[in-house]
Amino acid sequence: MIEAISKRSKIVATVGPASNNKETLIDLIKAGANVFRLNFSHGTHDDHKKVIELVTQINTELGTHIAILQDLQGPKIRVNEVENNSVDILPGEKLCITTDEVLGTREIVSTTYKDIVKDVKRHDTILIDDGNIELLVEEISESNVYTKVVHGGKIKSRKGINLPNTNVSAPSLTKKDREDLQFGLQYDLEWVALSFVRKAQDIIELRDIIRKSQKHTKVVAKIEKPEALENIDEIIRVADAVMVARGDLGVEIAMEDVPLQQKKLVRKCNKAGVPVIIATQMMESMINNPRPTRAETNDVANAVMDGADALMLSAESASGMFPVNAVLRMTQTIAAVEKHAKSVYNRYYEKDKDSSTRLNDLLVRAAVRMSESVSAKALVGMTKSGYTAYRLALHRPSAKVFVFTNKKHLLRQLNLLWGVTGFYYDETEGIDQTLDHIQKILVNEGYLKKGDVWLNIASMPSHWQGHTNMMKVNQIE
Ligand code: PEP
Repeated sequence: MIEAISKRSKIVATVGPASNNKETLIDLIKAGANVFRLNFSHGTHDDHKKVIELVTQINTELGTHIAILQDLQGPKIRVNEVENNSVDILPGEKLCITTDEVLGTREIVSTTYKDIVKDVKRHDTILIDDGNIELLVEEISESNVYTKVVHGGKIKSRKGINLPNTNVSAPSLTKKDREDLQFGLQYDLEWVALSFVRKAQDIIELRDIIRKSQKHTKVVAKIEKPEALENIDEIIRVADAVMVARGDLGVEIAMEDVPLQQKKLVRKCNKAGVPVIIATQMMESMINNPRPTRAETNDVANAVMDGADALMLSAESASGMFPVNAVLRMTQTIAAVEKHAKSVYNRYYEKDKDSSTRLNDLLVRAAVRMSESVSAKALVGMTKSGYTAYRLALHRPSAKVFVFTNKKHLLRQLNLLWGVTGFYYDETEGIDQTLDHIQKILVNEGYLKKGDVWLNIASMPSHWQGHTNMMKVNQIE
């Protein structure tokens, strides 16, 4: 397996023109990337296919379990083309947003979202380009929204539009998303993220399509709308993972409210055992610079201390000048925090009392406590469904978490989870031989040595099936 700096929090690196070649992808993995994100707001299916094939090749050649996260664009609203690719608008001027197809000028700009005229009301705010341009709605006609410019600036072709106080009626899975999803499902990718989730039903709908195509892909809910915050408990209940998508969230709600929302979302996800990714602008200045700012380093460190499972890089690794360095800097920061901040570890959450997996969950929790008491170096779980890995990660043990499974797809999927290192294991011998074998593997890989204590949890009588119901303490002779 590839040697990267040891860290427990994972890194999701977006792949784009700066990194979509085999050499750079390998360097990103060596620097600490665990999951590659393909952003379907950009690139063609052919571009993404090339990366999927490269990652599959790399996983086979290097024995890594790098996952792929397909990020669907969702109902992102954009401006269409504008003349000379950029028009200047000034505060106090009037600007018409139209659903007619016209080349944009200082007076009129066309949008991709036809129902904007139905959704917005007088006095609503329209934001363009991450909120840099602010418009106030004055009048609405059949195909035009007439606005007054509050904050002006340059409107460039294809820039995003946000409607922070409008209930957008667009379906959460657009025609493009459905086509992109079908493309991703051909490859049975490990994760798919849905943008602009508003309610649990958005996730359920996506999950139904995946289930009907009999694929394993799990769903990440991107939280970037105020409606998602209102419905967050139901969304967390149905999502397989959550992303705090701070880019759009910081435009849709007041930017200064994002830090506390981040903490709240992480806490809720931790408690529910749902992996959570912190995304956007974590190392933004590294798009152009070889070193991050001190504030960015602090942001990464704080996300780790909050309890994030994974931290994400966007343009830094997709189109920046220093993609590998950005991952490396993130890894170094994560590793430094994890070395010294005790608060990162041993968060003993308990699942609802009426949970159908309560006995299993309590056993995992007891194992994590035990691992702490005996200063175990490793906690090992065997899994067919991945559930044990989620439960082990939830408690954030300081002992390293190793998961053994005979499902290759699962190994890659679990690579997003905090602290989980997976091993492929397909032997069907009895429990004693299995434990002996696992110990040899961990010693050979350099994770354990003579005298080390390690714990394993499994299910008996058949240690590959059913819920975890036993724990064994081992010491290496
Ligand atoms: C975000 O808005 O923070 C985000 C991750 O979404 P995207 O990069 O797809 O706009």
